[in-house]
Amino acid sequence: MQLLLMGPPGAGKGTQAAELVKKFDIPHISTGDMFRAAVKEGTELGKKAKACMDSGKLVPDDVTIGIVRDRLAKKDCAKGFILDGFPRTVEQADALAGILEGLNQPLTKVLNIHVPSEDLIERAIGRRICKSCGATYHVKFNPPKVENVCDECNGNLYQRADDNEETMRNRLSVYEDSTRPLTEYYKKAGIYLEIDGRQPIDKVTEELVNVLSSVKD
Ligand code: ADP
Ligand code: ADP
Ligand code: ZN
Repeated sequence: MQLLLMGPPGAGKGTQAAELVKKFDIPHISTGDMFRAAVKEGTELGKKAKACMDSGKLVPDDVTIGIVRDRLAKKDCAKGFILDGFPRTVEQADALAGILEGLNQPLTKVLNIHVPSEDLIERAIGRRICKSCGATYHVKFNPPKVENVCDECNGNLYQRADDNEETMRNRLSVYEDSTRPLTEYYKKAGIYLEIDGRQPIDKVTEELVNVLSSVKD
């Protein structure tokens, strides 16, 4: 099963991908997570990505497409995958179509988690992430049992540098300009479905799992 999770920043893509990984046992491929890991390690890729991420702009298409091409070629993707946060431009979507054609792994479903923009800033500002395992929390909507401590691994939680109001406004406007047009792109392909992301986390998961249970891979 080859899934694409779409939706604006803060819609719940990462949160839902983590649930779908447990359910379907396929890898979660998040370009944002890959860039953050590269920034942390101080690699060339990290240096290229950091300034764009800090200001809420997109990392250039050629860089982004290259890392996804390499990742999808890995063995663990042969049984399927969940793409999260890629593609974000029409150029990336065209490149992805070519990559997947080469792998003979067409997209099974494109699931767009819809959340109105007025909710997204609060979601991003309250987001907290585990330093050790990457689990995602929210100070109000999904708090850990102990403040700032991960339920899964006892790791410390941190706040992403780009999860502030100013950068978030830029990210939302980049989403409107560059990424929203992709919904039309995938609607034409007949594999597109919109999910109401304003529901509680477990309800969104339930809806996704229901949709996917009827899909054959
Ligand atoms: P969110 O989950 O809030 O949408 P991500 O973790 O997906 O954020 O992305 C964080 C940042 O990483 C983006 O603002 C952008 O700078 C960069 N990034 C992630 N994915 C892409 C992509 N497909 N193309 C270009 N830049 C990307
Ligand atoms: P994305 O990957 O799309 O940027 P995340 O999955 O990281 O989004 O979620 C953004 C923030 O919103 C996180 O703090 C997360 O705990 C919270 N969140 C996710 N889904 C929901 C939901 N359905 N209702 C309320 N808060 C949510
Ligand atoms: Zn953890």
